[in-house]
Amino acid sequence: MTTSTRGPVRPDGTPIDKEAVRRKYLEERDKRLRADGNDQYLRLTGELAGYLADPYTSRVEREPKTDHVTVAFIGGGFAGLVTGARLKEAGIADVRIVEKGGDFGGTWYWNRYPGAQCDTASLIYMPLLEETGHMPTEKYAHAPEILEHCQRIGKHFGLYDDALFHTEVEDVEWDPEGSRWVVRTDRGDVFTATFLAMGTGPLHVPKLPGIPGIPSFRGHSFHTSRWDYAYTGGDPSGAPLENLADKRVALIGTGATSVQAVPHLAGACAELYVFQRTPSSVDVRANAPLDPEWFASIATPGWQRRWLENFTATQTGAGDGEDLVMDGWTDLARRMRERVLSLPPEQQTLAGMQAAMEDADFEKMEEIRARVDAVVADPATAEGLKAWYRQLCKRPCFHDEYLDAYNRPGTHLVHTDGKGVERITENGLVADGREYEVDCIIYASGFEVGTEYTRRAGYDVTGKDGVTLSERWADGMRTLHGTHVHGFPNLFVVQPTQGANLISNVPHNLTESGRTIAAIVRHVLDTGSCEVEVTAEAEQAWVELLLTHPGRGVIGSPDCTPGYYNNEGQDAGLRAKLNVGYPAGAAAYFTYLDGWRSSGEFEGLTFR
Ligand code: NDP
Repeated sequence: MTTSTRGPVRPDGTPIDKEAVRRKYLEERDKRLRADGNDQYLRLTGELAGYLADPYTSRVEREPKTDHVTVAFIGGGFAGLVTGARLKEAGIADVRIVEKGGDFGGTWYWNRYPGAQCDTASLIYMPLLEETGHMPTEKYAHAPEILEHCQRIGKHFGLYDDALFHTEVEDVEWDPEGSRWVVRTDRGDVFTATFLAMGTGPLHVPKLPGIPGIPSFRGHSFHTSRWDYAYTGGDPSGAPLENLADKRVALIGTGATSVQAVPHLAGACAELYVFQRTPSSVDVRANAPLDPEWFASIATPGWQRRWLENFTATQTGAGDGEDLVMDGWTDLARRMRERVLSLPPEQQTLAGMQAAMEDADFEKMEEIRARVDAVVADPATAEGLKAWYRQLCKRPCFHDEYLDAYNRPGTHLVHTDGKGVERITENGLVADGREYEVDCIIYASGFEVGTEYTRRAGYDVTGKDGVTLSERWADGMRTLHGTHVHGFPNLFVVQPTQGANLISNVPHNLTESGRTIAAIVRHVLDTGSCEVEVTAEAEQAWVELLLTHPGRGVIGSPDCTPGYYNNEGQDAGLRAKLNVGYPAGAAAYFTYLDGWRSSGEFEGLTFR
């Protein structure tokens, strides 16, 4: 591989042996590769279905709906809220959001574990701040504030009026006679909608690790997305988990959720055992309250869109160097950009640029590993907490108390070196042949990602020729812009893939989709049409464009340690190739989409 001008160095200035680090990365990946990939995880059905129960809101009985609405939206998270808001702004009075949780919020409804917080800066992560006139309290908002903001959006735009909570869609079918969708739910609803939009979220179906014996455990257990405060004490705003003072607790998993929960558990439990299969990279958080005076100075009309565009440009290397957010997400991108720009002309090749980016990554990861040594007192624990992969191989984490939590008496890292927990017994867990007896097991084991869209959604959609969405997408997703599917008129899918695919700030994708959908619905209604559908040719042309994508770089690479970013290390074939965004990048996509939408032509869609 070509080398960039200045070789990468450690924080102490010594050179990094790149070959040795690359070798170590591959060794650590190989330890974790397993043939069963996504199939290793357990679905929460049958005897495990109890893990899905909603601990936060009780179910309210109601009469089934049998009416008609202009727009039905499945999912009451950010996707439904921002699309609903844009539709209301466009004058669509009846927008019905159907949500399986007991309120709006989506991921922020479910994830109320202690310490839950967003890793993306609140000024760009929390949608519609300008419209609702809200100033976040912190650079990185905590979960209760984000949930409250979801409720604020719901109230501000009148989305509560027609919402159906604790309602799961079971089936959706196109009625060609009436040019409308028929929606059936688990509450006996059978209602119709002229338009149907779906924003069911990428990470909302909790999964359990594939560890034998889970049902045999006789103590207490729950998944982090259904936190049992009745058992632990405390509350989502961070009150101490006082009921755990005499409890031995096991936490399985060390992803982004665990990193935030561990500091709270460490102080509260009699003994805390954190079972780690793969360490997360944990960079600096540096959270701070937002200063109202400073906020007033930046919050001039159009401010949030400027910030969104700046973050996206900085993240994707398309910026002019100005970085408004300045954080861990933009830091690596800034470093890569600086290295690439400093390359001499003869090294300004694809290989030269990749080498420069890898050098920036080596330095970043050495800093993150050096931070572990600087904070964690016990050398063996520190060694176990070091992440040996490129920063974007797995979801990067940011925290200033996580590593220090391992210095507390009673907090133990059980580093299984890639093997994970062997089995669960009546009394506890077995790892590396040793049994750990505990009172409670908390599963911080994440959510289904690599499974089929319709399996995760919990329902299938039958389009105009009787073909279901799962049949249509059997070999991978096919859309225009990630939103429109041929054969499925008046349907909008709201999610990032095949659009901008910007995963460091998902709401930016959703905000733009909401704007687009509102413009299309308005156009259909204003022109007296009944149906809008993407043509087969336009969909095919978009898919072909996506297939020219150079690949997702580090994210999704088979060289990475397995995880949901790379389909657990398994080649997903065409599905993976289609699981990309606009080849020219997120910033270019948003510019393109803006032009496509504002022209009023909606090229590729037919209206009839
Ligand atoms: P993850 O999927 O990221 O983590 C699951 C954890 O469970 C991993 O550490 C995994 O190990 C571990 N695990 C799986 N199987 C076993 C096993 N058999 N034995 C031991 N450990 C096992 O889930 P999270 O809930 O942490 O996060 C999901 C996503 O949600 C994040 O990636 C992020 O996108 C989002 N999130 C965002 C937050 C934010 O913005 N602040 C906060 C929390 C979550 P391994 O790595 O080896 O697979």
